[in-house]
Amino acid sequence: MLTKAPKGTKDIFGPEMNDWHIVEGKMRALCEKFGIEEIRTPVFEHTELFLRSVGDTTDIVQKEMYTFNDKGDRSITLRPEGTAGVARAYIEHGMHNNAQPTKLYYIEPMFRYENTQAGRQRQFHQFGIEMFGSYSAALDAEVISVAYSLLEKLGVKNIELRINSLGCPECRGKYNKTLREFIGGNLEHLCPECKQRFEKNPLRVLDCKNEKCKEIIKDAPSVLDCLDEECTAHFEQLKNILDEMGIKYTVDSGIVRGLDYYTKTVFEFVTTSIGAQGTVCGGGRYDNLIEECGGAKTGAVGFGMGIERLLLTLEAQNGKAEHKRVRDIYIGSIGETGFVKSQAIVYRLRNAGIGADCDTVGRSVKAQMKYANKIGSRYSAIIGDDEVANDKVSVKNMETGEVSEIKLSEIENFIKNI
Ligand code: ATP
Ligand code: MG
Repeated sequence: MLTKAPKGTKDIFGPEMNDWHIVEGKMRALCEKFGIEEIRTPVFEHTELFLRSVGDTTDIVQKEMYTFNDKGDRSITLRPEGTAGVARAYIEHGMHNNAQPTKLYYIEPMFRYENTQAGRQRQFHQFGIEMFGSYSAALDAEVISVAYSLLEKLGVKNIELRINSLGCPECRGKYNKTLREFIGGNLEHLCPECKQRFEKNPLRVLDCKNEKCKEIIKDAPSVLDCLDEECTAHFEQLKNILDEMGIKYTVDSGIVRGLDYYTKTVFEFVTTSIGAQGTVCGGGRYDNLIEECGGAKTGAVGFGMGIERLLLTLEAQNGKAEHKRVRDIYIGSIGETGFVKSQAIVYRLRNAGIGADCDTVGRSVKAQMKYANKIGSRYSAIIGDDEVANDKVSVKNMETGEVSEIKLSEIENFIKNI
């Protein structure tokens, strides 16, 4: 137990860390271009925030939250998703007073008590975007375009953007009624959870993973047929903008997303490369959430992208990336004087921006050179009494074998100039 991380969690290190850095670097660079600023919210929030925002008929609230009472007897929950915390921060810091829209992104761990399987962990990471302060479909398109552009830049293949509209609460009310009528006689055949959802939020039945429920709602009427004029126009404008942008999508009226707060646009990016957990990114518009959480009514759109699933997809499509470590120079040593001197030289080189290493283990010279090779050192040198006394050193190019005789005091300049 002491030597095993808790179920559903993973250590990220070694070559894999490099993949994370590359992907996160692209996310940050892209957000910079889109004018989206980073936000870091607390890992835990008051439980009430998630009950209010995520919704009490959702899987997250019903079964997946890490909730506990702290020593002050407050109910605290580790964040299962990013939107609620960011929406809370938007209200708390009066961000509506800034010129709108407010555009924020986060790269953070999320916590859900789930049945673990490939692409489904208990601690996982999301790259998320939240944009506030506009009801225009242009904002929906901008949010979608961030995900689309990122996936394109990462070279993800076989990924499909699916969009749908759930309409405003009025349209949804109308659709819920239609859906209840459709399910009607089959109510007793639904899974126990869907039986509960049927009254409170029948839309959730469309998102159920139970095979029986899936079969029952297979030919359910489309929510798109229940949209009023304004919601239809919004969806049409979104499609027009996406078409103009050259962003390919399919309309899928079965997409309802796992969270209660969505209104109008919802979307998913789904890949066939990683089996059942193929939804890499999900998002939508949530025009009532800010008001629900105590702010003024504010138009907002966002998405959450699962970083583990994104990396799994890239690996399934491109294989494991090879990451060779590279260092500029290894300064080996013989004897105490050389050993001490090499530590100081390496410190100065590193300070000057050079990737340098030396022996800190007490290896033999032969073992030091083997190690220099292993860490991908481009150059190497060995310092002993003689080198220190006479201010000279031989620097070897590890690739060509070429040796340069230089002054030991000049080693920093020598490395800088090659
Ligand atoms: P799913 O249907 O797979 O349970 P979800 O609807 O619960 O997904 P969201 O809450 O919309 O997912 O989260 C957005 C994204 O975060 C998902 O598309 C997925 O990529 C990722 N994600 C969600 N839950 C997990 C998890 N337990 N482990 C890894 N990634 C996850
Ligand atoms: Mg889920």
